[in-house]
Amino acid sequence: MTIVKNARIFTCSPKSKSDGLLSGSIVFEHGSIKYVGPDESDDVARATAAGAVEVDAENGVVTPGFIDSHVHILHFGLSLSKLDLFKCTSLEEIRAQIKAWAVSHPEERRILCKAWMQSSVATEALARDLDDLDPRPIYIEAIDLHSAWCNTAALDELGVASLPDPDGGRIHRDANGRPSGLLSESAFLGLAMPFLFSVLSPAERQACVHRAVTAFSEAGYTGIIDMAMDDDQWAALHAYRQTHPVPLHITAYWLVPYSTSDDVIQTHLTKAIAMNRKFHPSTSPSFCVTGIKLIADGVVDGCTAALSQPYGAKPDPVEPIWPAATLAKVVAQADAAGLQCAVHAIGDKAISQAIDAFARLEQPQPLRRRHRIEHLELCSAEDSQRLGELGIIASVQPVHSDPAMFRAWPGLIGSHRCQRAFAYREFLDAGAPVAFGTDVPTAAHHPFLNLYNATTRRSAIEPESPDTTNPHFAIPLASAIKAATVGAAYTRYADSWTGSLAPGMSADFNIVDLDWDPAGLLQAKVRQTWYQGKRVFSASL
Ligand SMILES: [Zn+2]
Repeated sequence: MTIVKNARIFTCSPKSKSDGLLSGSIVFEHGSIKYVGPDESDDVARATAAGAVEVDAENGVVTPGFIDSHVHILHFGLSLSKLDLFKCTSLEEIRAQIKAWAVSHPEERRILCKAWMQSSVATEALARDLDDLDPRPIYIEAIDLHSAWCNTAALDELGVASLPDPDGGRIHRDANGRPSGLLSESAFLGLAMPFLFSVLSPAERQACVHRAVTAFSEAGYTGIIDMAMDDDQWAALHAYRQTHPVPLHITAYWLVPYSTSDDVIQTHLTKAIAMNRKFHPSTSPSFCVTGIKLIADGVVDGCTAALSQPYGAKPDPVEPIWPAATLAKVVAQADAAGLQCAVHAIGDKAISQAIDAFARLEQPQPLRRRHRIEHLELCSAEDSQRLGELGIIASVQPVHSDPAMFRAWPGLIGSHRCQRAFAYREFLDAGAPVAFGTDVPTAAHHPFLNLYNATTRRSAIEPESPDTTNPHFAIPLASAIKAATVGAAYTRYADSWTGSLAPGMSADFNIVDLDWDPAGLLQAKVRQTWYQGKRVFSASL
């Protein structure tokens, strides 16, 4: 038995009426919580008399372990060793960074870069602007992970010159039809990304998983939800679990990419259903496949999000990747098979289309299956209401609303339309279940940065900046922490056993140095992370 005493506890328990902190203790045994309440109690006295181990929280805040609702675990692990270009604001800076990295990493087979802000390069991204830097293949991922800028060596090893544009993607080409350097949407997600994963050795893949789970655990997570699973990644996670204790629970949504061929779509869907049967949340709760992921559009920064109005400089609106009828059919098939659907939808048009697909299911299907929409960045007021009415989960990533990442939007869609961006408060008020994630590696994975963006709408990247992103959509601290814990647990059918602190729940929690105030979130420090009653991270060890 263990007692964590002298704590300020935020239980997130749906039964608790209070949105404040409770001073007291948590008692747990065999990974399960027995008691949450005041330090002075019969339960604590009995545990002490029985020889329980005592842990002094030293007046720290204890929250349920965080659960990140939307991650890409292998890509996160891989990203931890890539060159970070986030701070670069011009082609010259990007070139200088790559040149320096190339010199200091002669042993690497490729030059992999991350966090490129597309707006930092004024003209189209061209291979020839990189070709003189190094003979090795160079890949520069956009920060949103929806496109990549490649040099000629990279385009050659991918073999894209002889390929047509894939469904839902584009291989940008010059006047002669030769690939010019930029790969958008499925040309990156479906070609370059799987290729870069396929060239990793088994040991490199295990190292990626290890780096990622360690980083999550140190940041206070006891669970993660991967949002684009496939065979290769699942095999790597599976292999890792055979040889390591994993300090968190993992759920995955199987990627069903769009194709003009119904046979191809059905093959992916059949695989997803089989994986769900084999790794079902009821029989394998800490390592399971709960549903499918569908990508309905792109991102605003890449002008690939599907909007009801055109982007400022263009005459026609961008259409969703899936024709509405095809999306609705796959959603209905997955629903009938008992799987959840998670639909990536950023633009208002893609969001409406996804909600329409869920609304066509027999009621109350969205609630029963806990279907979800990812991102919801530019949602109309009417659709915010529909999320609540239909019980569709709003799975959002407050880190993406950071003012430092929002700068290109006014130029792309106009300031007026920007006022609808990241309407989290509206989702909450409409009664939609809200869950938080970070979409790492498209943004930092730390839960407290995410909570800071959600509650203050100020920049965690540039804390000294007074800029805000639609502060009227900020949500209260208690609601934000619930979205990052019990709300995320709900999305993957785990709220009955984790995500809140109450008797009978898994002892998954953090001890954090934290002022209980949004302004203090950037200074928050995770002291300890506990998973299933075991301490899996301690800052002091
Ligand atoms: Zn994602």
